[in-house]
Amino acid sequence: MQYDHILIRYGEIALKGKNQKKFLVKLQENIRHKLKEFPDVTVKRTQGRMFVILNGQDPHAVIEKCKHIFGIHSFSLAIKVENNLDKIKHAALFALQNGKDVKTFKITVKRINKNFDVRSQEMNQILGGHLLTNTQDYKVDVHHPDLEIKVEIRSEATYITSGVVKGLGGLPVGTSGKSLLLLSGGIDSPVAGYLAMKRGVEVEAIHFHSPPFTSERAKQKVIDLAEKLTRYGQKVKIHMVPFTKLQQRIFQETPDGYGMTVMRRMMLRISEQVCKNEGILSLTTGENLGQVASQTMESMNTINEVTNYPILRPLITMDKDEIIDISREIDTFDISIRPYEDCCTIFVPKAPKTKPKKDRVNYFEEKYDYQELIDEAVNGIEIVEISDEKQVKDDAFQDLF
Ligand code: ATP
Ligand code: MG
Repeated sequence: MQYDHILIRYGEIALKGKNQKKFLVKLQENIRHKLKEFPDVTVKRTQGRMFVILNGQDPHAVIEKCKHIFGIHSFSLAIKVENNLDKIKHAALFALQNGKDVKTFKITVKRINKNFDVRSQEMNQILGGHLLTNTQDYKVDVHHPDLEIKVEIRSEATYITSGVVKGLGGLPVGTSGKSLLLLSGGIDSPVAGYLAMKRGVEVEAIHFHSPPFTSERAKQKVIDLAEKLTRYGQKVKIHMVPFTKLQQRIFQETPDGYGMTVMRRMMLRISEQVCKNEGILSLTTGENLGQVASQTMESMNTINEVTNYPILRPLITMDKDEIIDISREIDTFDISIRPYEDCCTIFVPKAPKTKPKKDRVNYFEEKYDYQELIDEAVNGIEIVEISDEKQVKDDAFQDLF
């Protein structure tokens, strides 16, 4: 005997009423995509349930993949047997003996199929008795068991599930539309991208770089960060914007202190243009209130003036240590701290204004017609498309240990 199913619980999606189907179809599609290297495995939806049917595949390798899929609240390993008392007993015993670090257990029977002629309460006793007489070291604990074995008698079959593995939660990526993530090489923006994805957002990324002042390795860093994000989605398309000329011009034309504000506004203008070209409806940044000069209330107000697009700022109220914790969890921290210069750090004045005034910024921007340089930057965008293949391989490699 072995586990042949994984039961997927989807938590929040269950609240979606009429829209539920759309969310479930997407979740099923996302699970299928992440499991495509297991050709025998199938993913099925039946009456309020989703199952991964293993067809002989090792369940642990499959669970490892499912841990990175948003929209899954939890999983349990499951065995499907006929509605036959002996077979159910046998499967329950298997579940108990295969639990890790289990000393106490509890059995919960749910009889949905009323044609099955043993009632739930009686089934609980029969199965509990069967497990106790056929094993030695286990005890029943109905309040805080190490392992809960659930037996669900349905019309088509009985499912025996054991234990619960926590999933990532959130909503299936792709159910909340697309956002353009302003991805720097820093710690914050990849975490912001991850959190947007958690709410079902599919991300494309935009990165501003200033060769030769920023190196190939700084660019590679951004590619590596985007690659980590693909673990939670399918692919990430990066728009690499050549920013050198525009940036140099900004710092020539703008008095010290205001250069950074103008530069941020240019980033937003270009990002909005990319959104329009790609049919994307929002931007996402790693901004965090009070962290640096560009992230004061005044600064954000002045910078935000140039776009009407909604800007998602998932990190806005977090503390740095909370952000770092997530960046370690998603494996981006070590990449983010590689020491290569980013375009902002190179040109930024020693003391950027923490309270830039809108009329001053507008006045400085009017001194020079930037449109041609903006167009040149947009037209010079290089696209880098990253798929999740490497992440899928890395995960498979981890499974061996
Ligand atoms: P991060 O750790 O994400 O770099 P930060 O704390 O360094 O953030 P800033 O440098 O002020 O903060 O950047 C704020 C946000 O602006 C970033 O989180 C990112 O979304 C965006 N951003 C900054 N520089 C770039 C860049 N070169 N390319 C794309 N987006 C950028
Ligand atoms: Mg930064």
